[in-house]
Amino acid sequence: MREIDTDVCVVGGGPAGLVLALLMLRSGLGVVVLERARAHQREFRGEILQPGALALLDALGVLTGARARGACELDRFRFLDGERVLLEADYRLLPPPYDHLLTIPRPHLLDELLTHCRRSPRFRYLPGRRAGGLLRRKGRIAGVVADGPSGRCAVRARVVVGADGRFSRIRRLAGIGAGRTEPCGEDVLWCSLRTGAAEVPPPREVRVVRTPDGPVLVHGCRPDRIQLGCTLPHRQGHELTASGLEHVTERLVRAVPEYGGLIRDRIRAPGDLTVVDVFSARAERWADDGLVLIGDAAHTHSLIGAQGVNLAVQDAVVLHPVLTGALADDDTGAARLAAFERRRGPDIASVMRRQSLHSRVMHAHGAYATRVRPRLARALRHTPLYRRALQRIAYGNPTIRITDDRACGWA
Ligand SMILES: Cc1cc2nc3c(=O)[nH]c(=O)nc-3n(C[C@H](O)[C@H](O)[C@H](O)COP(=O)(O)OP(=O)(O)OC[C@H]3O[C@@H](n4cnc5c(N)ncnc54)[C@H](O)[C@@H]3O)c2cc1C
Repeated sequence: MREIDTDVCVVGGGPAGLVLALLMLRSGLGVVVLERARAHQREFRGEILQPGALALLDALGVLTGARARGACELDRFRFLDGERVLLEADYRLLPPPYDHLLTIPRPHLLDELLTHCRRSPRFRYLPGRRAGGLLRRKGRIAGVVADGPSGRCAVRARVVVGADGRFSRIRRLAGIGAGRTEPCGEDVLWCSLRTGAAEVPPPREVRVVRTPDGPVLVHGCRPDRIQLGCTLPHRQGHELTASGLEHVTERLVRAVPEYGGLIRDRIRAPGDLTVVDVFSARAERWADDGLVLIGDAAHTHSLIGAQGVNLAVQDAVVLHPVLTGALADDDTGAARLAAFERRRGPDIASVMRRQSLHSRVMHAHGAYATRVRPRLARALRHTPLYRRALQRIAYGNPTIRITDDRACGWA
């Protein structure tokens, strides 16, 4: 079995894992990233980045390169009932340069992060390696065992970071409960369609359209592509794509008739849609002796307001000084690492509260929800109250900044 020694073993090369890897490398530490997927085979995820993530990725020097690989700006979120706007978040009212949402294909963002990480001689990226076991020493977590095409490898590390997403294996191996909230679950059917030259161009906004069976989402995701999402009650996604594809396509056509031709033409088989189980959860704790969880592994969110990447990037930025301090003092016990959850937990709780409020608004049908609140929102649009609410959606906690005190200057 191949054996590797390092300071930090990050399991999962998603946004949380790679941003943390880059920060730790800049602080002069050795980092190994184990990633289950091989290059460009990563499973489907949303690609909308909030201004909070954009600002941090920019400060890391990653945003310009990621954008140059191909990205698309969006102006706003709108929740519609027919022609009526029920909710709106207009990012053009935020101060520049982050006065928009950005869709970046996930491989573009991850590849750019990897390019930056690879500038450090202390970085090792091991794609195609699935973490399947934890190494323990004197009762504490001391590394990870992973399998890949070239066999098994053991990574011994001073600290392990579980950044392996919402179905985290590391979390499970550590015996930490996922804290999944079933009532918030739903299935979402996704597809991305190329718009031909003759079609209506992709919208420069995220549009969520109310239909009798639940919301349908559409947004531009490349200069010539739209992303469509159709929500269904939990666990009905596979059943419906297999037995009632026409029902799904007709529902999409009713919600976004301007793309009707495209939808009927391109969605012909269940395989043209991806079914994603969407839920929210908060792990029962985020630290153990020698281990810390971040991103979706620690807290998973519903899709409302496209918060996941923003939170994952911010997690890495908040964990960075906690981890460099703990390693400098040679204390990576659970009590020391729990500082991360103490600092970050309230932000996450507040995002979850806001998402559940927005979910209630999206499902409400009374006169207040459909007539009074939209009128109120329009009246408040040019007030500081609207901007404050918008800032919270766009940035979450706007005070989060990169701590670069131990940067070793190799970049
Ligand atoms: C359908 C869908 C749409 C979404 N849309 C958006 C959106 O538009 N905007 C937004 O901000 N958020 C969106 N999200 C949420 C967002 O994708 C996540 O919150 C974000 O990716 C979390 O980042 P992460 O690094 O914590 O985890 P992930 O991005 O899930 O990365 C985890 C990584 O760990 C790897 N991994 C898993 N298990 C192992 C293992 N055993 N060994 C090694 N590697 C492993 C995976 O391959 C993956 O690369 C969406 C989520 C879904 C499901």
